[in-house]
Amino acid sequence: MKPWKTPKSPLEKGYTFALKTTLAYLVFGFLWVVYSDRLLAVLVPDPDLLAVFQMYTGWFFVAMTGLLLFLLISHYLGLISRREERFYMISRGVTGEVGEAFFSSLVRSLTEAFDVDCAVLAEFDEKQPGVARTVAVYLDGRLQENFSFELAGTPCMKMQQSETCWCARDVSARLGEEHPFRRIGVESCLSVPMCDARQRHLGALVILSRRHLRQKTMAESMLKIFAMRAAAELERRRSEKTIEHMAFYNHLTDLPNARRLHQMLGQALGDAHKKQSQLAVLYLDFDRFKMIERTLGHRLGSRVLRGTAERLKQSCRSQDILAHLGADEFVVVLTEICSTQDVRNRARDLFEALKAPFSFGDHQLHVTASIGIALYPQDGEDSETLLKNADAAMSRAKILGRNNLQFYSSEMFHSSFQSLVLENRLHGALERDEFLVLYQPQIDLHTGFINGMEALVSWKQADQKPVSPSDFIPLAEETGLIDPLGEWIMAEACRQNRKWQQLGLIPQRVSVNVSARQFYARDLVDMVARILRETGLEPQWLGLEITESLLIQDVQKTIKTLRSLADLGVQVTIDDFGTGYSSLSYLKNFPLHGLKIDQSFIHDIPQQKGACTIAATIIAMAHALELSVIAEGVENRAQRDYLIEKDCDKVQGFLYSRALTAEAMSRYLQGEMKKMAG
Ligand code: C2E
Ligand code: MG
Ligand code: MG
Repeated sequence: MKPWKTPKSPLEKGYTFALKTTLAYLVFGFLWVVYSDRLLAVLVPDPDLLAVFQMYTGWFFVAMTGLLLFLLISHYLGLISRREERFYMISRGVTGEVGEAFFSSLVRSLTEAFDVDCAVLAEFDEKQPGVARTVAVYLDGRLQENFSFELAGTPCMKMQQSETCWCARDVSARLGEEHPFRRIGVESCLSVPMCDARQRHLGALVILSRRHLRQKTMAESMLKIFAMRAAAELERRRSEKTIEHMAFYNHLTDLPNARRLHQMLGQALGDAHKKQSQLAVLYLDFDRFKMIERTLGHRLGSRVLRGTAERLKQSCRSQDILAHLGADEFVVVLTEICSTQDVRNRARDLFEALKAPFSFGDHQLHVTASIGIALYPQDGEDSETLLKNADAAMSRAKILGRNNLQFYSSEMFHSSFQSLVLENRLHGALERDEFLVLYQPQIDLHTGFINGMEALVSWKQADQKPVSPSDFIPLAEETGLIDPLGEWIMAEACRQNRKWQQLGLIPQRVSVNVSARQFYARDLVDMVARILRETGLEPQWLGLEITESLLIQDVQKTIKTLRSLADLGVQVTIDDFGTGYSSLSYLKNFPLHGLKIDQSFIHDIPQQKGACTIAATIIAMAHALELSVIAEGVENRAQRDYLIEKDCDKVQGFLYSRALTAEAMSRYLQGEMKKMAG
């Protein structure tokens, strides 16, 4: 605690001066009355002259008292005018200022005007009731650091009740040991409330002194005037802060938004440049958030987002930047990273943070996210490029299987603009329910009736013309979307097939195309088994079509997978046979069910000899290997007749039917049943 010191104020000095002057006057007057005549009688023996002198001494006395009176009055007038001047200066000074400058100038001027040791402008903390935070503190001739202080249990409590708080003495004794005002050694204080236009208590304006404060009434009325002006300024500052907050922070999660992120990232990049350090931008996006929102509703969706923000905050370090760009997109900037592994570990922490389910009453919701990562300086040197690249890597992560992370790589994005546009649209198409499974019948050439069908995916986008699977399937394969898409197609085909069976239609095998990526995925067999289990379809009613070139990519693995599928009871056919380069020796090693002659050969039969020879050879060879043969792309009778002649087992093509929707296929199957019965 500071030593107790009580220097006298000008006003107190003024009183002392007045007292001393009056005492001196009394002493002088007494001496004058008692001794002046006697002294004069000794000095002037002539009685006439004495009378004249007595008159002069009388005048002298009046002149001296007049002079004293003048001195006293002018001294007080000086004090008053100096004081007025100060108030004038305060009002002129503070009205001209705004913001922090105003608050500083106000507290400084108040200490001068009221001649106190300290002036404080304090604001009540909206988030912490019972706590005030100083906006400006002027103590012992200089501005001090701001601090917070408890109001409860102290005379300051009155401040909050919007009352004037006047403590003439012993303030420190009434405050706790650690209270900042006690540490100052305050003896007396006066505080007036600051209220906004709606009479909400914003804070208080306080003057504190180590002496006894006098003239409460006058000080209070003056202080109230300044408190009004300070309240208006405080309110203006609050509105400014609110507007600024709204412009730079997300209203839902209170995290920095895209604008603020750009600023913060810009600063972080500047630092990284100076320190020659690395930095990582992690772009995080929820998987299937739209679906979550659709199912749970907007309110619960917002709760999930707020919960996510909280969890991400917990897993971020103080030097990291966490931003919420809107919807379900978050960005984490990791500064001063040491290695890619470091970033990977931190990204894993984020995944870990989201792992626990969100609970809503009795329900639990698991959310997953995809993270795209761009590194400074290798993937971009400015915030815009880094964010764009991290976003692109995130999209890639999403289509590569969700709940996974991807580092940006420039090679990733060398595809043409067209395919980028397509890719953009493709990403999300599954969630938007834009895919449809069509079914093309396969005809048994021995009976002329349907014997199986092929499931073909179709992509119909709102307001766009349909995109052919030949265009988007390669893209889906390249981007990894084929994994979820392929799974959905297979499940859809199995579900539909089971439905037809339940409707009493003749059971058919539905063949689903499987891409190389799907085929070589670790869990293909598990996935097929799971789908069959979930849809209740018996394995014999599901077939898979794989391309010829796929067979020889990894022979051992192919054989293993084909065996597992055969064990499961699912038949596999080689699609587009004749276009690849599989040798017969290979073919006999694979546990296959059949071959499908590529439509390019069928197109040219019977008129082209070469095509005829190839088709005929494939049929003969397949039969020799005990495989069934189907020809696709059969558009006319001549083709069909030739295939019948060569003993082809089945055909598929526009001659019989195009690929049909599930409803159209139902009708087709019913028609077939009638034909068979007839
Ligand atoms: P694909 O498996 O060889 O399918 C046969 C394609 O030939 C289909 O084209 C079908 O509509 C078409 N087609 C059928 N009959 C005739 C005909 O008489 N004349 C002509 N000119 N064409 C006929 P689509 O639906 O455009 O599919 C093209 C390719 O896309 C498919 O060739 C297949 O490789 C791939 N694809 C289609 N659906 C899927 C799928 O669900 N998954 C995977 N991985 N690939 C698929
Ligand atoms: Mg096919
Ligand atoms: Mg084909």
